[in-house]
Amino acid sequence: MVGLVVVSHSAALAAGVVELARQMGGGQVAIEAAGGMAEPEGAIGTDVELVRAAIERAGGPDGVLVLMDLGSALMSAEMAAEMIGAVSDVPVRLSEAPLVEGAVAAAARAGAGAPLDEVAEEARAALGMKSAQLGVEEEAPAAASAPAPPGGAERRLRVPNRLGLHARPAARFVETVARFDADVTVTDETTGRGPADGRSLSALVTLGVRQRHDILLSAGGPQAEAVLAALDELAQANFGDEDGAPPPPAAAEPAAPAAGPPAPGAVLQGAPAASGIAIGPARALHVAPPEVDETPAGDPAAEAARLDAARAAAHKDVQAARERIAQQAGAAEAGIFDAHALLLDDAALLEPARRAISGGASAGAAWRDAGAAAADAYRALDDPYLRERAADVEDVVGRVLGHLGGGAAPPRIDAPGVLVVEDLAPGEAAALDAAVVRGLAVARGGATSHAAILARALGIPSVVGLGDGILAVEEGTPLVVDGDSGTVEVDPPADALAERERARQAAEARRARALARAREPARTRDGVTLEVAANLGAAAEVRGALEHGADGVGLLRTEFLFLDRDEAPTAAEQEAVYEEIAAALDGRPLIVRTLDAGADKPLPFVPQPPEDNPFLGVRGLRLSLANPDLLRDQLRAIVAVAARHPVKVMFPMVTVPAEFRAARALLEEVRREAGAPELEVGVMVEVPALALQAERFAREVDFFSVGTNDLTQYTAAAERGSQQLAALLAGPLPPVLALIASVTAGADAHGRWVGVCGELAGDPGAALLLAGLGVRELSMAPARIPEVKEALRGIELAQAREVARRALELEDADAVREAVAPLLPAT
Ligand code: PEP
Ligand code: MG
Repeated sequence: MVGLVVVSHSAALAAGVVELARQMGGGQVAIEAAGGMAEPEGAIGTDVELVRAAIERAGGPDGVLVLMDLGSALMSAEMAAEMIGAVSDVPVRLSEAPLVEGAVAAAARAGAGAPLDEVAEEARAALGMKSAQLGVEEEAPAAASAPAPPGGAERRLRVPNRLGLHARPAARFVETVARFDADVTVTDETTGRGPADGRSLSALVTLGVRQRHDILLSAGGPQAEAVLAALDELAQANFGDEDGAPPPPAAAEPAAPAAGPPAPGAVLQGAPAASGIAIGPARALHVAPPEVDETPAGDPAAEAARLDAARAAAHKDVQAARERIAQQAGAAEAGIFDAHALLLDDAALLEPARRAISGGASAGAAWRDAGAAAADAYRALDDPYLRERAADVEDVVGRVLGHLGGGAAPPRIDAPGVLVVEDLAPGEAAALDAAVVRGLAVARGGATSHAAILARALGIPSVVGLGDGILAVEEGTPLVVDGDSGTVEVDPPADALAERERARQAAEARRARALARAREPARTRDGVTLEVAANLGAAAEVRGALEHGADGVGLLRTEFLFLDRDEAPTAAEQEAVYEEIAAALDGRPLIVRTLDAGADKPLPFVPQPPEDNPFLGVRGLRLSLANPDLLRDQLRAIVAVAARHPVKVMFPMVTVPAEFRAARALLEEVRREAGAPELEVGVMVEVPALALQAERFAREVDFFSVGTNDLTQYTAAAERGSQQLAALLAGPLPPVLALIASVTAGADAHGRWVGVCGELAGDPGAALLLAGLGVRELSMAPARIPEVKEALRGIELAQAREVARRALELEDADAVREAVAPLLPAT
């Protein structure tokens, strides 16, 4: 097998590249580092003797490929190669490839048993991986493409893992191919790119295969069938990737670093992370870094045992943090700690740590270094979501180090104020005391970092991605954090500060008043009671919803039962969960929405061809009707629970009456089969076509529930997750209100009722307009309920009707907001 040598001016860099290349397919390959100088030890530079020795160690009859960084590295490598050539027959080739990409690609190819020429070529083409991803592939050397092997077998696969065939899964692919006597080519049938040589990492990565792409594998040779079966199995195992939740929208980049402390009155712009205003002096977080004993306390076996014990203790911490956050904030946020539990056992941390321990390192040093390398690897990724996971790695690493050093003190701030930090690990965020930490100002990260998610859940107004400027603020400087606009004002003038303080106090008092009355009904001044319900996505959220005054559940998003699983939940499994929720609601109404998956929320067990416009594709009821057995099972569970509790059912993404009828026919079928009583059946209004035909639907449906999130995106032709189009989507848009007016008019004509369960319902101003348009039920995130109820209590319905009528004539959402503002409770 061909060996590799990595030559760099920096010993750390060379060692890191070797580590990376080993992990990414080069586990069997002799890869040697020759970094820095021998004298003085570790100094920056290159050393001919070190390079020569490394070539000798890596060398075998198949030869050695030497990869170098820059300048003198080339000269040292040339001289070392000459010295080796004088005394041995080992072929040595110097590679012009970029160091990191080249080493990784060459390691994978060498691991597959390729000869020196091919390994060198593979390294040379490696820049193509990056070029292709950056869209500059025409300048990159061509990656190995290959004709399909003649007369072989073929197999089509759907790529299931979230990041597609990126470097790690591609490396596993190459490793698998290398175990067989077969040639494999890969063609991406979704994009038409390929065929690429299945033994070439760079060729595979450069294909740019993404999640849900269909790839065609063609294999030739004696073990053609066997290699295809093994690749199929690998794909079933997600190509070895641990996929988490789908990535949220891209996070904000930090602002440019500032030179000195911001001037008094400066306003720093970041990304809004948690709503609300916080005012207080800047406070730094005091965290004592866990001390690491560099000297091993015992032999490697004892050190390995110490590491395992510390990891076990860290598992307990993670579980405790999970429970605390689940109680305070809900199951979804607590799920962050499931990822931490996985990281504690992650081979990418454990294996290098164990290797270092075998090599004589202490448990602490080995774990710290493995953690730093893993966190750096995350930080180096292109995907901002994945980059932010570095904080999760550091958190987990810190916990274990704390236990190795006899326990770490929790982070604390000395006195109440606004916490200013460069970054915040989720464990640190979870340990924050909201009574002391009034607000958060974070230099790095985006609104999707786990720290931001937790801050939101704990109700601490927060801004992230402020850049280095915020770090230069001196402790004690007055700060105003505005978690809605994403700004931090530094030492504002006294009158502005007083004004902001008044606004903050008023908002807080309003929230407290609303929360105190949250369980009372939302009765308008002229005596009309509206139902204000909660949107739920998990059974664990019922308690919080009731505490916030939910009159029921207006939308149960059942997707949580289906996503991230290999097979559909059985009817019995679903029934148990719906039963738990309905029972916890204790007689309050529950509307179960049937599965709203497909396209942007794919189900692993329901194959779907890729779609150019997933939001216009087979999703919601369309997908359920295409998979009637899936829908039947869900309806069986719903009718069973509806026999015991006030449960209604509604279908998402309905467009034409025929779809509703088909779904209702299935419902009737399973209901009769079970001998269950009738239940109310509704449709969600998410497609303008339905809104415009509401009167026709009203002849057949029992109720409507308007999903303003989708209805707005389809009306404005603006994708709901797009940050660039956020302004277009910021409701209440007059045309969307007009569609809702069409729905309430159509419903009225046949005595049906209309609810709204999109985000708009949770905006107090919009809620008044919706009430004015004839909506009788509003369903929202539980935290929004108290203020919406309070707003409704402050109006007469006639006033709301009048404003709603005028709103339909207005030009945009800003004008609508202005029109409704006088009806909102005074601040
Ligand atoms: C909506 O579209 O408004 C809605 C409530 O459904 P979801 O947000 O789950 O798509
Ligand atoms: Mg929707």
